[in-house]
Amino acid sequence: MGNDTERISIRLVVGLTAVFLLCLWAFVAYWSLRSRDLEIDSTRVTLVRLSTAAEEQVRRMFKLVEVFLDTSDLWLANHPQADPLTDPQFSALVQGFYRASGNAIQLRLVKRDGALYRIPAEGPKPNARVGDRDYFLAQGDAGRRGFYIGTPVQSRENGHWLIPISVPLQRSSHDVTVLLASIRVDYFAGVFEQERIRPNGAITLLRRDGTLLARAPHLPQLLGKSAAQTDVFADFLPRAPRGVEFSSSSATDGVSKLTSYAAMDDFPLVVVVAAATDDILARWELDATVITLVGLILTVFALAASGRLIWLLRDQERARCELFRMASTDDLTGCLNRRHFMASLTREFSRSQRHGDDLSLMVLDLDFFKRINDGYGHAVGDKALGAFVAAAQSCLRQSDQFARLGGEEFGILLPVTTVEQAQPVAERLRQKVAEIRIPTPQGVVQFTVSIGIAAYSSDLASAEELLLQADRALYAAKGAGRNRVVAAPPAGLPADTVVTPG
Ligand code: GH3
Ligand code: MG
Ligand code: MG
Repeated sequence: MGNDTERISIRLVVGLTAVFLLCLWAFVAYWSLRSRDLEIDSTRVTLVRLSTAAEEQVRRMFKLVEVFLDTSDLWLANHPQADPLTDPQFSALVQGFYRASGNAIQLRLVKRDGALYRIPAEGPKPNARVGDRDYFLAQGDAGRRGFYIGTPVQSRENGHWLIPISVPLQRSSHDVTVLLASIRVDYFAGVFEQERIRPNGAITLLRRDGTLLARAPHLPQLLGKSAAQTDVFADFLPRAPRGVEFSSSSATDGVSKLTSYAAMDDFPLVVVVAAATDDILARWELDATVITLVGLILTVFALAASGRLIWLLRDQERARCELFRMASTDDLTGCLNRRHFMASLTREFSRSQRHGDDLSLMVLDLDFFKRINDGYGHAVGDKALGAFVAAAQSCLRQSDQFARLGGEEFGILLPVTTVEQAQPVAERLRQKVAEIRIPTPQGVVQFTVSIGIAAYSSDLASAEELLLQADRALYAAKGAGRNRVVAAPPAGLPADTVVTPG
C-alpha cells in the first residue's frame, strides 16, 4: 500500500513537471513566433512609410525637371530671335531654376551635332560632346522622342554622376535641338541615406525597365546596371504595381530582404525600399535568445526540483518501510513480533469467516527453558532461541507466518491448512528442535518444544478464541509430559488428541 502511494506521488510529480515544461515551451514557441510576426509587421509599415516618402521626394524632383524643361522650351518658343547660348534673360531664368532646385538640377543645351553647352555658353567651344549619349540619341528616334530619362552618366564636364533627362525643343533655335536637365545622383543618394534602415537596408530608384538610377548606400559601380532579373522586376511588378514582399535576390547583394516597391504612375520610375531580414530580426533574435535561456534555466530548475522531490519521496518510503519492519519484527530472533502476529491472525480469521478457508494455528513453547538460562547463562539461552527459530523456519512455507509471542513462546499461522495437514509439519518441527545441539564449555545443550494446534471452525467467534484453543492444546502437551504435539479437538469436544508422545 505504501508502495502504491509512493508510485502515485512520483507519477504526480512527473506528470506535473511534464505539464509545466509543456506549457513553458509552448509559451516560448508561441511568444517567439508571435513577436517575430509583430516585428516583421511593424517593419512592413515602416517600409511603406519610407517608400511613400522617397516616392514623394523623387516625384517632386522630376516634376521640377518637367517644369524647368517646359518653361525653357516655352521661353525659347516665345523668343525665336534670342540666342539661348548667350541671351542674358534666358541665362537668368536658368540660374533661377538652378537655385530653386538647391543646385541639384543643372540645365544644358545640346546642338544638332551633339555639342553640349552650359548656359550662358562660355565661348564657341562646347563644354562636352554628347552625340553618343542615349538621352541625345533618343530624341532623334521617333519611337523614344519626348520626355526621356537616360542612363546615369558621369559628367564629361566635372565628373559628377548625373541622371540625364532630355526633351526635344519644339522649335529648334540656333541649331539647339535638345534640352537637357540633369539631376545629381548624390542628391538622391544623400536623401535616401538619411532614411534607409541601417545597417543593411537600402533605398533604390530605378527606371521602369530596371536600370538603376540612384541608391543609398551609394555604390557608383551599380549606377546604370540592370535590375530586370531581380525578384522585384521579374516577379513582383508583373503582379502588382506596389507591395511589400520578401525577396532573396537583389541587384546589389545576395542578402535576404523585406522589400517595399512602388511603380510611380506619373513617371516611368520605381522606388524600392528594402530592410535586411537579419536587421529586422536582430532585436527579436536577442529577445528570443533571452527567453529561450530563461526557458532552459526554468527547465533545469524544474527537472532538478522534481528529481529532488522524487528522491525525497523514495527516501521517505524507504524510511517508512524500515520503520514498519522494525515495528513488526522481534529484535532478538528477527521473526515477526506479537503485535504483527495478532493483526495477521485477526485478518486471516476474518478471511476464513468470509470464504470458509481452512486456517491452522500452532502455539509453541520451549520446554524447561528456565533451566538452560539457569544452568548455562542467558547468552546460551539466547543462542538456543536463535537455533530454534532457524530450525522452525526451515520447516515452514512462504505463506506461513512465524512470530515470537513472548519469552520462549512462539506462534505459527498456516493459512489454507487443515489441522490434519498442520500436524505433520508440527511433528517435523518438534523432531528438528530435538536434534539441535548447542555446544558450550559446560557441555552440549539440548532442548525440546511442546506444540499446541487449533484449526478454524465456524463455531469459533473470534481469533482470540482460536488462540485460546491452541493455548489449551499446548497446556495439554505440557501436561502430558512436554516434547509433543497436541491438536485441539473440534470445538465442543472435550478430549485432547495427543499426536506424538515425547
Ligand atoms: P516450561 O516447560 O513449563 O515452559 O518451563 P519453562 O522453564 O520453559 O517455563 P518458564 O515460564 O518457567 O520459564 C521461561 C523462561 O524463559 C524464563 C526466562 O528466563 C526465559 N526467557 C524468556 N525470554 C528470554 C529471552 O529473551 N532470553 C533468554 N535467554 N531467556 C528467556
Ligand atoms: Mg517454557
Ligand atoms: Mg513459557
